[in-house]
Amino acid sequence: MSNKVEQFLTATEEQTIVDAIIKAEQLTSGEIRVHIEANCNGNIDARIIEIFETLQMHQTAERNGVIIYVAVLDKAFAIYGDDGINRKVDLEFWNSTKDIMQNHFKSGEFTKGITQGIIKAGEELSRFFPCLDSDTDELPNTISKG
Ligand code: CA
Ligand code: CA
Repeated sequence: MSNKVEQFLTATEEQTIVDAIIKAEQLTSGEIRVHIEANCNGNIDARIIEIFETLQMHQTAERNGVIIYVAVLDKAFAIYGDDGINRKVDLEFWNSTKDIMQNHFKSGEFTKGITQGIIKAGEELSRFFPCLDSDTDELPNTISKG
């Protein structure tokens, strides 16, 4: 793994992001994950779907997993949500979430950008996929790295 990936976030920043995932998932049955790697090999849209599947994120009961993906060296990021979400939200949902993140990323505030993206996604998801008493944590609330 590239040092750039290792150094992208401090341990404290990683914990801030994990806390945001935990908090967001208290509002929704949706599952949010963050993946960080060096390069997306030129096609971020294809790569994010590949990672989504590698992380088994399409295995949620309601098909409501969301991944926030960052390619550190490419200075690129993307968000991808599973079919269950895209049947209910319009494209504007993803664009507005991306815009919030982009504004922070531009100023080098990566942790803030990612956590704001998580919070926004969680709020939006909670409208369509509220958290039920029977909720389980279907996907780990950790940051994965490639
Ligand atoms: Ca859950
Ligand atoms: Ca989770």
